[in-house]
Amino acid sequence: MITRPYVVGNWKMNGTRSMLAEARAIDRAAERLIKVEVALAPPATLVHACRKEATLIGIGAQDCHPADGGAHTGDISAAMLKDAGAGFIIVGHSERRADHGESDALVKRKAEAALAAGMTVIVCVGETAAERDAGKAQAIVSKQLEGSLPASDSPAEQITVAYEPVWAIGTGNTATPADVGAMHGHIRAELERIYGEGGAQVRILYGGSVKPDNAAELLAVENVGGALVGGASLTAESFLGIIVAAA
Ligand code: PEP
Repeated sequence: MITRPYVVGNWKMNGTRSMLAEARAIDRAAERLIKVEVALAPPATLVHACRKEATLIGIGAQDCHPADGGAHTGDISAAMLKDAGAGFIIVGHSERRADHGESDALVKRKAEAALAAGMTVIVCVGETAAERDAGKAQAIVSKQLEGSLPASDSPAEQITVAYEPVWAIGTGNTATPADVGAMHGHIRAELERIYGEGGAQVRILYGGSVKPDNAAELLAVENVGGALVGGASLTAESFLGIIVAAA
């Protein structure tokens, strides 16, 4: 199956309405970049406004609560995010796992909530530097996949996995193409074990200090179906540099 590269910007806890101009500029350019599937995950406060500003690219959210609704002060359900205009949800980002102590089991419930709400989901996994140095990177990622992915009877084509080594996020240190190739091959094998033939349909994104000048090399690696981009997605100029490199 050949699909377009999927390039997703994660704005994290950045952005007020003044940043809508960036979303608009990315959207205008995306019209000309039909070879790439482009999406943005702004903070929840901007999902609705981004959806109105940007009509061509995907708009999603960075997290959701696993429940449909109820007494969960400060939380937002998948259905609420869908209602605001989100088409996908990122779950299990390493910053949420670290800042909020999110377990694999909780990430799985969130991923299943996103699918149940009729959205697609991006499930993030990745090892720390200490885990890699100890030779445990693949074992850690296997454990995260086993525990965080939606149930094996879920629609695999609605699921994307983002491999984001924790030591590469926001640090300027990217994994080498050889390391990315080895890990993405490992993730593909795990996906086929869990989802059977459907595992081949799951896109696997690389994330971790992707920039316009390293994107082409990383996206050319086998089993890399796109990129999850943090810092470099905050301006249209740098994000479009990555999108052009992906095309
Ligand atoms: C991310 O937060 O998902 C990420 C990959 O960040 P950065 O591109 O800044 O490393």
